[in-house]
Amino acid sequence: MAAKPVVMRLKDIVGDQQPEYCNQCGKCSSGCPSARFLDFSPRRIVIMTQLDMIEDLLKSDMIWLCAECLKCKERCPREVAPYDIIQALRNIAYKVGLTYPSGYSQYLSSISEKGLIQQPQSIRTQKGERVDRISLGLPKLQKPSSMEKIAQNLNKIMQLERR
Ligand code: SF4
Ligand code: SF4
Repeated sequence: MAAKPVVMRLKDIVGDQQPEYCNQCGKCSSGCPSARFLDFSPRRIVIMTQLDMIEDLLKSDMIWLCAECLKCKERCPREVAPYDIIQALRNIAYKVGLTYPSGYSQYLSSISEKGLIQQPQSIRTQKGERVDRISLGLPKLQKPSSMEKIAQNLNKIMQLERR
């Protein structure tokens, strides 16, 4: 059976999200912490998706600059979820063997060695207070009980993703 075109694969992955419903209101881009980087804006990625410029997106660094904060998904009044589109594009880029930033390999090594990408940080609330897990009454983050299993599963996922 012939391989599906990349655009169709994007639609399969994005599922319920509808890039065509975006009305370019800009709410996603105005709250996006990565939008200050040259060329990156979730709104732009959505319109390029609407215009079927998937190949251009896959080849650009744009899709790798998202910090995965989910603010765009939360803010979008049209349930477009730029975050989901970006994740879908990343998955496709990886599957078709395009290069991804070297930092991603470090992420994966950190997960397979320590179970997380980085230690939890404190954050500033809208009222300007600094809070962390302890001040929020959350338990200390536990290291996974079996790092060996984490590494094995991660390797399995990576192999499946490439298929
Ligand atoms: S917030 Fe939603 S509707 Fe508005 S520009 Fe972003 S993706 Fe489009
Ligand atoms: S999830 Fe990504 S694209 Fe969406 S607001 Fe956060 S950094 Fe920006």
